[in-house]
Amino acid sequence: MESKITVVTGGSKGIGKQICQKFAENGYRVIFIYDKDDAAAGSTLKMLQAINPENQMYKVDVSHFDEIQKVFNRINEEYSAISILINCAGITKDKTAKKMVEQIWDDVIDVNLKGVFNCSKAVLEPMCSNNYGRIINISSVVAFTGNFGQCNYASSKAGVIGLTKSLALETAKYNITVNAVAPGFINTDMTRNIPEEILARTIENIPKKRLGLPEEIADFVYFISTLKTDYITGQVFHINGGLYM
Ligand code: NAD
Repeated sequence: MESKITVVTGGSKGIGKQICQKFAENGYRVIFIYDKDDAAAGSTLKMLQAINPENQMYKVDVSHFDEIQKVFNRINEEYSAISILINCAGITKDKTAKKMVEQIWDDVIDVNLKGVFNCSKAVLEPMCSNNYGRIINISSVVAFTGNFGQCNYASSKAGVIGLTKSLALETAKYNITVNAVAPGFINTDMTRNIPEEILARTIENIPKKRLGLPEEIADFVYFISTLKTDYITGQVFHINGGLYM
């Protein structure tokens, strides 16, 4: 049974915030998870609660297995079974491999890959019992192209693809679908950190000659996770202005 409860990790800003807004405006009850920047999270919650006062947020690090299980147990108790999980929380800590210290390798893998596993695992049993579930994992174009200075990030996002396909296999018989969306370069705080001349060169290489908009990712994520069919699973959808085909 579809419950219309949607959990979005990394929902306080950027792509995740747009995803939250899209679901809330379409009558879904939205709970988002974030870790830092309480001011941004508070303003996103205000926007979401103006749509439905029952929309909610939790501050928890997706890389912490036990804390994530606890938060998802609470969500399940308070709201009923989660129908849709969007794993959108992610970070970058760029360095060339030569300069990359162990800690920043671990940090990025822990949030971007282990975080997706932690949150997916937390919804699996309730989704299986409910015989309904839609999981969307946000990967990245760099999982396919690689990127200078991002061996940690590109590896984490490539790992998300393997995780998506394995979960899709394991859950297919429970009316659960698991798919990945691989955005190109999208206009958020994450790309605002890229040095100006590198960003200009990147945009020059995009056939559409511009960054993508968070809304363009959100619209597709909403579309694919609200389709009636359970026949689309284990897939990767590229949204990148033609940068990678
Ligand atoms: P953003 O920096 O604007 O937002 C990141 C969100 O993740 C925030 O809500 C933050 O609180 C949350 N988050 C980060 N670490 C967390 C943790 N440990 N626990 C819980 N929440 C955490 O980023 P964005 O650009 O909106 O990116 C969203 C997703 O899309 C990420 O997974 C990112 O890797 C991916 N992506 C972004 C781009 C891009 O160009 N912006 C391209 C491809 C993929």
